[in-house]
Amino acid sequence: MIKIMLEKTLLTVAGFDPTSGAGITLDLRVFNSQGFYGVGIITAVTEQNTALINKVNFLSPDIVQNQYSTLHNDLKFDGIKIGMLGKKQNINVIHDILQDHPSIPVVIDPVIESSSGTRLLEEATAVSDYIQAIKSRASLITPNLAEAEWLSGRTVATEKDMQTAAEKIYTEAQVPCLVTGGHLTSRSIDILFDGSDFFRFEKDKLDKEVHGTGCFLASTILCYLAAGDSLVRACRAASGLIHTAIKSAISPGCGRHIFFF
Ligand code: PLP
Repeated sequence: MIKIMLEKTLLTVAGFDPTSGAGITLDLRVFNSQGFYGVGIITAVTEQNTALINKVNFLSPDIVQNQYSTLHNDLKFDGIKIGMLGKKQNINVIHDILQDHPSIPVVIDPVIESSSGTRLLEEATAVSDYIQAIKSRASLITPNLAEAEWLSGRTVATEKDMQTAAEKIYTEAQVPCLVTGGHLTSRSIDILFDGSDFFRFEKDKLDKEVHGTGCFLASTILCYLAAGDSLVRACRAASGLIHTAIKSAISPGCGRHIFFF
């Protein structure tokens, strides 16, 4: 459904998943479905199908930097989503991208590893460097429970833990934080801390393993923000949309479901 946003350009920085179930091609599908023109910078090429990841090939930071400068010389971005970074030096590229764009919506999905446990951010990456690069420069960061543990340095296993982690991440990064708790209990609960208040988005838990939920959520929130919605409205709307999208996800291979919209 192409609506009125076509003249707006959104950038995603992410890895390539050949199934299009996560990463850059999923982000571009989301942008396009919401009526935006999407462009992307690839940080890594994964070798995977719907059932497994065989290998992750991190691109060198020079290639990532050069993709950015070449695009940036030509295009104006109306919003940016940051996903899988790969090499730890790509944190510097992210720092530069965010510094160049102080006043457009930016959503950070702090991808550390796939849900199957494959590392997608270089092991040696220091959380303090990551936080420093995004400090005060993003509209939202969207960690899942494991990512919230990495960023906050605390166990995140309960709804109270999610609140504590969201507040701590906000305090350190000066970026509003939405901790997603899809795997928390029998209900799916996401907790947003915007710097002053907590918001809670709760849905029925769907019994369906879908690949790329973090990417889908973050890129959908970016679309709403770029369309002018407030942070709380964007999070609430995206949280509802992902629920519908999970219901319509398809199973094209032998592994997990893939978003199809
Ligand atoms: N981004 C890319 C490029 C990936 O390949 C993956 C996982 O394979 C993810 C993000 C995270 O997806 P998920 O959490 O569904 O494993």
